[in-house]
Amino acid sequence: MSGLWCVALGYGRKELIDAAHRQMTELPYYNSFFQSSTPPAIELARILAEVTPPQFNQVFYTGSGSEANDTMLRLVRRYWQLLEQPHRNVIVSRWNGYHGSTVAGASLGGMKPMHEQLGPDGVLPGIVHINQPYWFGEGGDMTPAEFGLARARELEQKIEEIGPERVAAFIGEPVQGAGGLVIPPDTYWPEIQRIVDKYGILFVSDEVICGFGRTGQWFGCEHYGTRPDFLTMAKALSSGYLPIGGLMVSDRVSRVLVEKGGEFFHGFTYSGHPAACAVAVANLEIFRREHIVERVRTDLAPYLATRWRDLAAHPLVGEARCVGLLAAIELVPDKSSRRFFEPRGEVGMKMRETCTRNGLVMRATRDTLFIAPPLVISHAEIDELLSKVVRSLDETTVWARAEGWL
Ligand code: PMP
Repeated sequence: MSGLWCVALGYGRKELIDAAHRQMTELPYYNSFFQSSTPPAIELARILAEVTPPQFNQVFYTGSGSEANDTMLRLVRRYWQLLEQPHRNVIVSRWNGYHGSTVAGASLGGMKPMHEQLGPDGVLPGIVHINQPYWFGEGGDMTPAEFGLARARELEQKIEEIGPERVAAFIGEPVQGAGGLVIPPDTYWPEIQRIVDKYGILFVSDEVICGFGRTGQWFGCEHYGTRPDFLTMAKALSSGYLPIGGLMVSDRVSRVLVEKGGEFFHGFTYSGHPAACAVAVANLEIFRREHIVERVRTDLAPYLATRWRDLAAHPLVGEARCVGLLAAIELVPDKSSRRFFEPRGEVGMKMRETCTRNGLVMRATRDTLFIAPPLVISHAEIDELLSKVVRSLDETTVWARAEGWL
């Protein structure tokens, strides 16, 4: 799992450790308020403007992905205020999406158990959810292509229901991670882009997992050909060696903020922390020097995909899907229908435990099991990973038969 989708360059990268040490020796901290900054924060901003899509030339730093999404929400509201449309305050998100663990992050996310824990007032006002593009679980009789279009069009229906003049933004992960690695059908994102363009609403790509090569492109939005106005990020930005997140703000938005906005009263003590920025700079320099993203796209992802898809032949597996270095299997009682085990999650948990015992870290969301290996995994390690998945599937099948699940 690359720690938690973050240790993209793997462990033991001395350059990253040295970068932190050097920076902490020279200047461990200075704030980024009152028109101040530090050299590593400036250098990182320069690199981010280069590696992100061309509409992005400004960055706000945060300490995490959750803070990045929080900041985004504030900027979205501010943007429409400055354009004298303060009533445009609704953000549309998706059920089963994940956008973090702060109040805004949990509200933007579509995890019902997290919403319930927010208490009687629940989700922040002005946040609504539409259904996710999870074909295996919810596609019914539709083909993936039909289903992708149908789920995207729920955005249009929701906009019409709320009133187009009230909708501020749409947020989505290119591939839903924590929700169970939901890889949308190919028809989904082009239709979403058509709809956000039609209504002129802001589009946020939450790249906390998909950013920095995970899909085989620098950002998931590039893999799916979308043109977001905000891009939120964290995790692989520093390969997890130090905590740092941020959000790229497109020229469309930053122009309004700069020209009309005056000061935006925002910032965290640790925004642009010099040591974290120095590590992120060193991290992205390695990304470029070792052609990490290109290697994922042209070599590792195709190699993993051919082997991963073979897992679909296993009696316990209903679907084996992957994109880039993200891959999932659905465990089912009967391969001939897309029906789940009842109750859900127990077989998945058993499979997860079996994997751990066999020396493989796999994550489980109900009966969906998934991996996100480091972007520097070797072919031999992919082979080892696959053999451990197969062994764990076999052992889980024996257990499931003995326990009457099959
Ligand atoms: N967005 C996505 C898509 C995530 O996967 C996560 C974390 N797993 C977050 C936001 C929140 O990031 P953090 O945990 O750094 O606050």
